[in-house]
Formats: sequence, structure tokens, C-alpha cells
Amino acid sequence: MNGTRARSRAVKRALVWVILFAMPVRSSLARQSTRYAPAGQLGENAQVRAALAWFAPNLIWINDQQARLTEIPAPAFQEGQRAAVLKSLLSAAGLAVEVDATGNVIGELPGVNEKEVVVLSAHLDTVFPAGTDVRVRHEGSRMLAPGISDNGTGLAALAAVARALHEAQIKPQRTILFVADVGEEGEGNLRGMRAVVDAYRSRLKAVIVLDGAGTDHVTTIALASRRLEVVISGPGGHSWSDFGMPNPINALVRGSVRFINTKVPASPRTTFNLGQIDGGTSINSIPYQARLKVDVRSESESELARLESALRESMAAGVRDEMESPRDRSRGKLEWKVELLGSRPGGELPAASPLLAALRAADAIVENASRIERSSTDANIPLSLGIDAISIGAGGNGGGAHSLQEWYEPAGREMGLKRALLTLLGVADMAPERTR
Ligand SMILES: [Zn+2]
Repeated sequence: MNGTRARSRAVKRALVWVILFAMPVRSSLARQSTRYAPAGQLGENAQVRAALAWFAPNLIWINDQQARLTEIPAPAFQEGQRAAVLKSLLSAAGLAVEVDATGNVIGELPGVNEKEVVVLSAHLDTVFPAGTDVRVRHEGSRMLAPGISDNGTGLAALAAVARALHEAQIKPQRTILFVADVGEEGEGNLRGMRAVVDAYRSRLKAVIVLDGAGTDHVTTIALASRRLEVVISGPGGHSWSDFGMPNPINALVRGSVRFINTKVPASPRTTFNLGQIDGGTSINSIPYQARLKVDVRSESESELARLESALRESMAAGVRDEMESPRDRSRGKLEWKVELLGSRPGGELPAASPLLAALRAADAIVENASRIERSSTDANIPLSLGIDAISIGAGGNGGGAHSLQEWYEPAGREMGLKRALLTLLGVADMAPERTR
């Protein structure tokens, strides 16, 4: 290390102290317990250093766990097999592990103060349906497989952080729950996280979600979203002899074209996606049903509501157009409905929260810079209820999430693991008798 680097380190350390002392949040923490050590000290603590040092010699093991977990299919509502492996990994990290009624794996590291709980979580499920080839290919140092990054990275990190704390015999002040939860993706509708927050709500102080790769961001704003399904039904018939009968696919296409033309504002950013469409039984049959799944997201709840009404109005018009088109429609009637498949509430972490201070302190210690992001993750649930929560990447680099070309590059993973561990201990804190 040269002099300039050493000086810049010293400056950064001093900065951590300045940041921590300047932050009103630490004083609000201090009100709850005067024994809380400033998070900046964590990096100097011998036990914490031992925990951080556990990662480097075990990076291959961590890669192997990630590949092993990724190769166990975990579509929505079928996370059980992968959950069982997480259970054994967390048990091996000295935790008392349970699988709750929803299917979440919960490993408990009791704190001195068991009345306060901090959650570190990673979702078990993937967007890939059963039958997807999830075998991991290696190209150089890169790993490729559907789900390898989202959320193989988070799950491997969850197990690694638990193991590192165990090897360093760290006893936290607050109880830490290591949670591998179900139902984060798609129609899981965050059911796993909903159950965890429900079960621990009165004791829950903070939730740190590990999702995907990277160390470049911290998600503190929960993007609100709705998932809707349109179903249009009719009598169906023969393409030739029943021609003229109203066609649910025609109506769906007519309605979809109207909906696609709905204007959405750039700010508040609002998006929609026609994600899945199906219906019909054969090329020469008038279908008896057509279905469409639509995802709408917005920084504003009122824009979401507006888009949902636009979808309903468009479909009503699409059905009407199809029924009124100048062919003989006397031989059948279309029924239609729009159903809410899921709704993710919005929320935002206060800028002065102790959790964000802990993340910033961890960033300073590992010399990382990260930007605030807005996204739809497991953190939506605690944030919508006013419970401190963030979602962060677990280190390394990844790309192609939710595609069959998904990849993960472990280089730089160590920083992400340290960042997660330091943030976790920053909010869970060390037991006073062990801090020196
Ligand atoms: Zn994810």
C-alpha cells in the first residue's frame, strides 16, 4: 500500500466518524440503548474482523453453494426442495432453523435482547417454470444458468454471512433471523415476506434483503405495483361454420391495442407490461377463452389506480367493439373480467434511518459507493408498514436476470459479503460484553 492510499484510508475512516456523529439517527438509536457502539467501530472490532476474514478463504465454497442451489428448480410455490438445502446450510452455521407454515426457512441467532429482531433475507424462488434447464455452465470464471444471479447470489450470501458470524462466535445485541423466503417473484406476491413480517412485526426493527448481484445500489424506495389478469370468455365454435360468433381473442387484441395507447407520465415514472397472453385450443376453432396478464408499476399510487381503470375501460371497449363489429353477433355473447393477481404496496425508508446509516457506514469501511434506488422487492412489505428495510445486491456482477442467458461473475463478491455483514451488525449490534 503506498502513502497516498494509506492517507486516503485514514481520511475515509475519519469521514465515517464525522458522518456518524453528524447523523441525528444515531442519537435516536442511543436513546433505546446507550451501549450501542458506533457502526464505524465495527471494522476495528477483532471478532468482526475475524468474521470478515472468513470470506476470502471460502470464496470457492460460496461459489459451489451458489451453483448447487441454482441447480435445484424453485418455481413459485415449488420452493420446498431448495428450502431443505438452505435449512441444512443454516443449521451448519449453528442456527436453530425452522420452516414456517408458508415455506420460509428461518434460522435464528439469538441476541442478548431477544425482544428486538433484525432480518437478513434472500428469496428462494425463481421466475422459471418447472422443466427449465437450470444446470450451471462455466465460461472462464463466469457462471451461467437461469436464476444464478437472482437469487443464487443472495442465497449463497445468506448462508455465507451466517457461517462467518458463527465461525467468529459473534453474539449480537438484537436477535438476527436469517430468512430464505418463498414467493418473491411474480405471482408469489411477496407471500413469504408478508408471513415473516406478520409473525415478527412487534419485534421487527429492520429488514435487509439480499437480492441479486452488485454493490452499486441500495433500494430504499419500494415501487408500488399491481398485477392484473384479463379473462374474456365466449361460447367458442368452428372457424368456418360459426364465423360471425364473437371471438374472445379478437376482443382481447382490440382491448389490448387500446390499452397500449394509454399515455403514461415520465414523472412520476409509470410503466406497464403485457407479459403473458394465452387462449384458444386450435387454429380452426373460435376460442372460448382468452387471457392476458399485465404488470403495472408507478412511483405514484394514483397513477397505478389510473392505469388499472384504463385497463378495465380498454377491455370493456374491446369486448364492445368485437360484439358490435358488422358480422352476425347474434349467436353468442362475450363475458369478461379483470382480476387483481397481486398488489405490492409502496413505501420509503426515511433518509435519517439507522439502517441507512449502517449501510453508509459499511460502504465507507469497504470503500464502496452506492446510489439510492427505487424498486419492487421483498422490502416493499416492511417499508409499506413503516418498518426500516433495504434491498441490496450481494456482491459480484450479474446480468440477464429473468432470462435464460442469466450469468454471474464472482469477482468482487467479497466486498458485497462484507458490506452485507457490516450493515447487518450495524443494526443488530454486538453484545456489549464481547465488543472489546
Ligand atoms: Zn430477485
